[in-house]
Amino acid sequence: MKIQSVETVVTSPGRNFVTLRVTTSEGVVGLGDATLNGRELAVDAYLREHITPLLLGRDAGAIEDTWQYLYRGAYWRRGPVTMAAVAAVDMALWDIKAKTAGMPLYQLLGGRSRRGALAYGHAAGRDVPELLDSVRAVLAEGYRAVRIQTGVPGLDAVYGVDGGDAATGVGLRGGGNGAAGDHPLPFEEVWDTAAYLRHIPTVFEAVRHEFGPGLPLLHDGHHRMTPIEAARLGKSLEPYGLFWLEDCTPAEDQAALRLVRQHTTTPLAVGEVFNHVNDYTTLLGERLIDYVRSAVTHAGGITAMRKLLDLAAVHGAKSGIHGPADISPVGMAAAIHLDVAIHNFGIQEYTRHSADTLEVFRPSYIFDDGLLNPSEAPGLGVELDLEAAARFPYSPAYLPVNRLLDGTVHDW
Ligand SMILES: [Mg+2]
Repeated sequence: MKIQSVETVVTSPGRNFVTLRVTTSEGVVGLGDATLNGRELAVDAYLREHITPLLLGRDAGAIEDTWQYLYRGAYWRRGPVTMAAVAAVDMALWDIKAKTAGMPLYQLLGGRSRRGALAYGHAAGRDVPELLDSVRAVLAEGYRAVRIQTGVPGLDAVYGVDGGDAATGVGLRGGGNGAAGDHPLPFEEVWDTAAYLRHIPTVFEAVRHEFGPGLPLLHDGHHRMTPIEAARLGKSLEPYGLFWLEDCTPAEDQAALRLVRQHTTTPLAVGEVFNHVNDYTTLLGERLIDYVRSAVTHAGGITAMRKLLDLAAVHGAKSGIHGPADISPVGMAAAIHLDVAIHNFGIQEYTRHSADTLEVFRPSYIFDDGLLNPSEAPGLGVELDLEAAARFPYSPAYLPVNRLLDGTVHDW
């Protein structure tokens, strides 16, 4: 079975998505998510200009060989644009292979290891009462684990907190996660780590007081702390028993986590901005983290994620696959198939997509009683409606930019 045609579909049903659509000589269609929030057209061009000519006529079943051909054959390795493009090809070929086999993808990954994948939702509030209401709303939607983000007194806009729809990322002022149409240029936030460090422990105290000790709680530091600041936060949050503290320091500084780890027993999660297994060698080899956060979409697809998750397993770490709303339903479906198949599953981030997004993408995965499950449909189990996609043309959007109180550019 040969690859007969390859096309990219760029659509913006509330936010931008890039999807690769591969069709075989037998007419089997595979989909891959290539969305790189804020830099979407770079991946679209990489796929159209540089990868499509290499795919036409290739054996659609040779997934590992194609992965290595695109990765090693480019000479220039890694990077978010390259790895999102390779990921999309890989997902589409796995989709085709599973459809051809007549099986849901998880069966080809070794079959089911659990009844479902525990998902966490996002709760956010500008202040504590608003946050507590948001946690109640997230629990009412069926989630059994919750990420907590709040405003910080004195700061106007904080990552993950806003006046918009926290679940979909649509209409958010600060922390908008690049929802299309928000801003022609990046929204600029102002940040004060000292105020944040003073405030966050009081937030977790209030949430634990209201919801008790059993609810799994997560928090995202979004790369904003120095190692010693992160160590202090991790230590101050120990009484509240977090499921994890995520991205406490800029992720590319792997040695920073050594210092954090020396000072706190709060579990650490890192990796949503990583795109290669080698980004983790220090972190996993020295057991500096507990959860790997890479997205299937950004780390080279199912083939590469399987290897990363196996390396994590060797070093006692579990999965926590990135799943914000800028991962399309195709990328989310790939994650859920991995989640139920691997042994070292930890938790899955799950942000519901908007109604417009679900008009374009028709996923068949199921969220029930706090757990995610793939359907039994062959392949990834997602349909792409090309006519609906065409109704939502690309709309330029950026992720926000962050500055300190004195105007210095800081990590967002
Ligand atoms: Mg994050």
